[in-house]
Amino acid sequence: MERTLDRIPPKSADLSEWYQAVCYRAELVSQAPVRGCLVLRPYGYGLWERLQAELDRRFKETGHENAYFPLLIPESLLTKEAEHVEGFAPEVAWVTEGGSEKLAERLAIRPTSEVIIGVMYAEWIQSYRDLPVLINQWANVMRWEKRTRPFLRTAEFLWQEGHTAHESEQEAAEEVARMLEVYREVAEDVCGVPVYKGEKSASERFAGANHTFSIEALMPDGRALQSATSHELGQNFARAYDITYAAEDQTEQYCWTTSWGMSWRMLGALIMTHGDDRGLRIPPRMAPTEVVIVPIPRGDASALYTKARELYGACKDAGLRVKLDDRPGQSPGYKFNEWDMRGVPVRLEIGNRDLDAGVATLVRRDKAVKEDGQKQQVPLDEVVAFIPTVLEQIQHNLFAQAKTFLTGRTVATLDRDEFYRMCTERAGMIDIPWCGLASCEAAVKDTTGATTRNIQPGPPRAQICVACGEPARYQTYFAQSY
Ligand SMILES: [Zn+2]
Repeated sequence: MERTLDRIPPKSADLSEWYQAVCYRAELVSQAPVRGCLVLRPYGYGLWERLQAELDRRFKETGHENAYFPLLIPESLLTKEAEHVEGFAPEVAWVTEGGSEKLAERLAIRPTSEVIIGVMYAEWIQSYRDLPVLINQWANVMRWEKRTRPFLRTAEFLWQEGHTAHESEQEAAEEVARMLEVYREVAEDVCGVPVYKGEKSASERFAGANHTFSIEALMPDGRALQSATSHELGQNFARAYDITYAAEDQTEQYCWTTSWGMSWRMLGALIMTHGDDRGLRIPPRMAPTEVVIVPIPRGDASALYTKARELYGACKDAGLRVKLDDRPGQSPGYKFNEWDMRGVPVRLEIGNRDLDAGVATLVRRDKAVKEDGQKQQVPLDEVVAFIPTVLEQIQHNLFAQAKTFLTGRTVATLDRDEFYRMCTERAGMIDIPWCGLASCEAAVKDTTGATTRNIQPGPPRAQICVACGEPARYQTYFAQSY
């Protein structure tokens, strides 16, 4: 008996319900029998692998190497950097027993790895000749969470964390800016998610950092989503963990360290940004499957299947990530819906009549049903060469749609009441001259739920903070956030 594909609720009605439904129905994730944890299914893992590949290539191009450090951190080490431990303490999970033995010292499951890596850097770095150290780790981390929202909020999550050590503050600052730009590029040019780069306010800063920078995306419900961060740690961790080097002049100096990370949260941003009522829409550069070929058999279809397999082989040879859906017992309509749900950018349909006419029907997932250009007939002997062009068009179209949304929902105001209303109503990225005072930020948050997202470079565009009337120091985005 033919299965029918469960419908998902419309995206515009309730983003949160749509999001949960699409994550499960598109088989990205499954609920785990452990609270706060998630099973990443093969299709979800395929997305993660695409993100990994794009990031990893850029990390290596910018001189970094991968390494791996332990999952467990002894409590006595974790507590050395006071601000850091204070920031993370409420969400650390602890191992207290091994086998049947109670441990003499509790072990933290890493919430992040500055500590364990700092300890190793102290051992590895002796002289200025050992610097810079440029290492990235691909890992899971754990931050105790009561709520579970796929990719956005889970106790255990996958990420990468870069950790570098430098001779000077300037070099560390350059590293932090370089990696923030890598994140912007991957978010925008690969995931098709437009972002704002900027510095976090003091209260939103990473625990133990001097400066934290972020990229911030805007989701369709008007909430911002912090998609990656890059931190100047100053000499704070170097002092706490004794990361020193002998300088050229023989003096003993503390290193300047940085850390930066992007997690599978980025996939959450991608899903919410591009998805529609039919399911996911994956930008081609992120798509585990770029093209799916669906034969539409009628009567004797052996010639049709031969041609479909031939087409599949030609796509593979051309370096495309392609699937042939020749499963018997499922109607083409069912298959179309299923691949639409999974967001595969291009579908090639080929029926007996197409075969006679020497064409295939190419269907673009970025276009709405019956929208101009959604379907086109392409000669069979040209289709493989034509697909990369279409994939590029889809990549750009998805980004352009998201960019139009972000631009349209970036709103400026100089009026206090309007500002508070915009914050409450989730108007979008609310762009105001801001004083930089923690008390002002807290007042906005208490009243509206909105926080500073990040601070733009350059001076404010007016002299007075729109939120409180004190002198303005920065131009800053406010929004409610995930
Ligand atoms: Zn203010």
